[in-house]
Amino acid sequence: MTSYPHMLRPLELGFTTLKNRVLMGSMHTNLEERGDWNRVAAFYAARARGGAGLIVTGGMAPNAEGGVFPGASGLFSDEDIAHHRVITDRVHDEGGKIAMQILHAGRYAYGPDCVAPSAIKSPISPFQPTELDEAGIEKQIADIATAAARAREAGYDGVEVMGSEGYFLNQFLVTHTNRREDRWGGSYENRMRLPVEVMKRVRAAVGEDFIVIFRLSMIDLVPNGSTHDEVVQLAQAIEAAGANILNTGIGWHEARVPTIATSVPRAGFAWVTKKLMGKVGIPVITSNRINTPEVAEQLLAEGCADMVSLARPFLADPDFVSKAEAGRADLIAPCIACNQACLDHTFQGKVSSCLVNPRAGHETELVIAPAESARRIAVVGAGPAGLSCAITAAQRGHAVTLFDQADEIGGQLNMARKVPGKEEFDGLVDWFAAMVKEAGVTLQLGTRADAGALSGFDAVVVATGVLPRDPQIPGQDHPKVLSYVDVLRGDAEVGRRVAVVGAGGIGFDVSEFLVTGKSPTVDLPEWLREWGVTDPDKARSGLAPDGPQPEAPLREVVLLQRKAEKVGKRLGKTTGWIHRAALMLKGVQMKAGVSYERIDDAGLHITRDGKPELIACDTVVLCAGQESEPSAATSTGRQRGSCSELP
Ligand code: SF4
Repeated sequence: MTSYPHMLRPLELGFTTLKNRVLMGSMHTNLEERGDWNRVAAFYAARARGGAGLIVTGGMAPNAEGGVFPGASGLFSDEDIAHHRVITDRVHDEGGKIAMQILHAGRYAYGPDCVAPSAIKSPISPFQPTELDEAGIEKQIADIATAAARAREAGYDGVEVMGSEGYFLNQFLVTHTNRREDRWGGSYENRMRLPVEVMKRVRAAVGEDFIVIFRLSMIDLVPNGSTHDEVVQLAQAIEAAGANILNTGIGWHEARVPTIATSVPRAGFAWVTKKLMGKVGIPVITSNRINTPEVAEQLLAEGCADMVSLARPFLADPDFVSKAEAGRADLIAPCIACNQACLDHTFQGKVSSCLVNPRAGHETELVIAPAESARRIAVVGAGPAGLSCAITAAQRGHAVTLFDQADEIGGQLNMARKVPGKEEFDGLVDWFAAMVKEAGVTLQLGTRADAGALSGFDAVVVATGVLPRDPQIPGQDHPKVLSYVDVLRGDAEVGRRVAVVGAGGIGFDVSEFLVTGKSPTVDLPEWLREWGVTDPDKARSGLAPDGPQPEAPLREVVLLQRKAEKVGKRLGKTTGWIHRAALMLKGVQMKAGVSYERIDDAGLHITRDGKPELIACDTVVLCAGQESEPSAATSTGRQRGSCSELP
């Protein structure tokens, strides 16, 4: 008897059956552009082996002008079709099914040849698009249909037509981006003509026995987006035009509302998908921040959707479904929705991977093989690095003892998990605990690993983490000065007016911690209010007319940095804006280009633009970076090394 009967139930599509209700959603990995097709195939094959009901690839361009960036991958030639055959064959060998996403970026394309319904530049690309004429529109439709036919030739089981997130088809739907006065603009019937025509032509190109998914924007979250009635009208027209499945898109990429970051409540937008249930006759998929089988099961049991889409969780653990099936959900590596090694890598042109699972995207390179000979290994430090090393070494067959002077595993994760919006770190620590047990690692907590404790081991791995960096500000021994460790561990009283020294990731986290009461991440109505999201039946696009309504901040906080650049500039590419926006909603002041002069009873004295300034405050929190903790390496006379050096 499974705990996930709804999630593991097959989905019948008439001509084919999906083995369960879990879709691996589309993610661009940058692997295709590298041309190592065995590596791409290995990536998808691992997810098929792990039980995904249907995999959707990263977006493939239908033509050069529709590529997300110049040189973006697509099926343009017979050679491309042969490359994609490598992927589909491997996935089928593993018993999986795979659909190719056709992604036309429209004005989001990062290239001078981009095209759109109207010549309106997007805020996330420096290139103004060319407005398409009638012949140009026909070319785009024909190219998308041709891409679908080529996908079938390449052995795919289906295609997903990307019609959400503010990409090309979505751009035709709303007056935000479509100011045309011909038959492709004006009334909603005219604006939805392009996606519907695309769907008809794609169906005609691939035949009836081929999966065609349309990804529909359920809530645009941009000014002048669709109403809910328009979304339903489009969904019904897309069904009539031949789609088998409707997948969900939430928010345009230019929306100023977070939709997938870790601070978004789990399944935070499933209620929007649920509004479509019963209004179409084809299966509907819900998505965004679904990262455990429990959440997936609950959504399906409650009738929010017919299927769930998980994308990043399949980076964190390709065996998401098979572990759930085996009753070992506790061993599923959790996606913490950080974006750090996946989306942030994608935008930097690197291969997407995963902070929790570095093998993602590197399946052919990072092979965990049995050790040549089992050895006794000590790992010092039970933070994420030490835990990962200990687990991997034990999985390889070594006898591993993991030391930490604290009474719990997790290291700095135990501070991170206290930050409102970072509750996902709880699951990560729990997963490490389950894996330590499963791998048979011996834990020695509350133990200082000195030379005596470490004698008798064949190898010692030092993973003792970091210590706070000393910013050397005159007066920093004043009683009003705390370190971020004191604050996040809850060991100290913090006053009402606070100066935070250092605006890196920790400075932002500490500021969030200091201004926030109950975390809105665990209170969906509160989170929606905070970001100004409302029922799209009540307001076009789902944007609340009165805008964001955050809770009053608990404290007055000033966040400072030495660098004369935008505060938060070095945070993650896809999440930095969220951290900045969240703090600004809470009235946090941000000051860059400061010199710290001294701390005294009055507060923190700084110089900015050559002028002295006093930040009057009750507490100064030092978040001035970190440096390696050297004591274990020094006391044992060993070099800091890496787990990968173990034979
Ligand atoms: Fe999830 Fe972070 Fe891994 Fe991306 S890097 S898949 S967000 S845990």
